Amino acid sequence: MQNPYSALMQIAARPETTFVRGEGSYLYDDRDNVWLDFVQGWAVNTLGHCPGVVSDAICAQSRRLINPGPAFYNAPAVKLANRLAALSGLDQTFFANSGAEANEGAIKLARKWGQKHRNGAWKIVTFHNGFHGRTLATMSATGKPAFEPLFNPKVPGFTKVPYGDLAAVEHSIDDETVAILLEPIQGEAGVIPAGSAFLQGLRQLADRQGLLLMLDEVQTGIGRTGSLFCYQHQGIEPDVVTLGKGLGGGIPIAALMAKTSACCFEYGDQGGTFNGNPLVCAAALAVLDAVTAPGFMDRVQARSEQLVAGLEALSLRFGLGKVRGEGLLVALETGAVDAAALARAAFDAGLLINAPRPHTLRLMPALNVSEAEVDRMLTLLGGLLERQV
Ligand SMILES: *Cc1c(COP(=O)(O)O)cnc(C)c1O
Repeated sequence: MQNPYSALMQIAARPETTFVRGEGSYLYDDRDNVWLDFVQGWAVNTLGHCPGVVSDAICAQSRRLINPGPAFYNAPAVKLANRLAALSGLDQTFFANSGAEANEGAIKLARKWGQKHRNGAWKIVTFHNGFHGRTLATMSATGKPAFEPLFNPKVPGFTKVPYGDLAAVEHSIDDETVAILLEPIQGEAGVIPAGSAFLQGLRQLADRQGLLLMLDEVQTGIGRTGSLFCYQHQGIEPDVVTLGKGLGGGIPIAALMAKTSACCFEYGDQGGTFNGNPLVCAAALAVLDAVTAPGFMDRVQARSEQLVAGLEALSLRFGLGKVRGEGLLVALETGAVDAAALARAAFDAGLLINAPRPHTLRLMPALNVSEAEVDRMLTLLGGLLERQV
């Protein structure tokens, strides 16, 4: 029989299983095998698989209006932009279709701002091991060593410095620098928090030097770290924020938000055929309603504490390393244990977990994961570690 997967471009080593159905924290394949999902489409399924509020919103919107085109205002986009402004303290939003596209927009906005306000300054400070996406410019901004040899020549203008090193940032700034771009917690690097002291230092530095401070909250935004946006518990206000992953609860929508002082696009500078269409904006509105409902974030915190305590107990029992992270973006250092092998064994045992680094596991369950599901994940992981160690 011909391999049914060979008509797809092979861009990652994927298990030979076809998923057909999902519900909350569970994912099913075409033979009705079931997985407890603590990856959730790479932290995109804010409310788990197929949440009723999101499917209702897109069904209803699909009967009303799917896409009038980006040259016209539509009701869900207007409503969503206003809600994001009220919730974030930033003023204006441009909607995109992916995190990379939102970051690409942030890079363009910074270069435009430099042309208008900083004598054509165009360089952006980014960080070792940071991740910003897979378009050519966002791969160029990314600090993953594995990206270095790929698709050269890269887009120029990204000065990369060690994450957390304020002196290195200051030292790297010159007359051509226009912005600093970073994740408040480096997700793909293995859940490494910048920390409030570093973020506050960057804010002061940006103010002193007249630079834009741009936060990539594609992974950390929309409640993932226990507050709607990660910067809200770091005591800073950025000039530009990008969102993606969790914003649409699995539906592809992303956003570039900025303070009025940073908004400088003119007609024709930015756009996109599908951007801000009513269907995806309706999904995001449903997600925002759910995560801003009273008590929602308290439950995220409670599950976070349960998860962290459970992982710390496993770490102690099996002699592993540190547990890191905030909210429901949590990593466990696996010490001598091969985390990728553990994630593969977990897959075979009906558990989806992710290994962003050779010795780091990452957990990013639905934000409405239940207490029993967290317990079940910890039990499964404990059983796997027993066999591995
Ligand atoms: C996933 C991610 C991106 C890229 O988002 P896509 O939707 O995959 O383009 C960018 N930045 C961060 C921090 C991410 O985690």
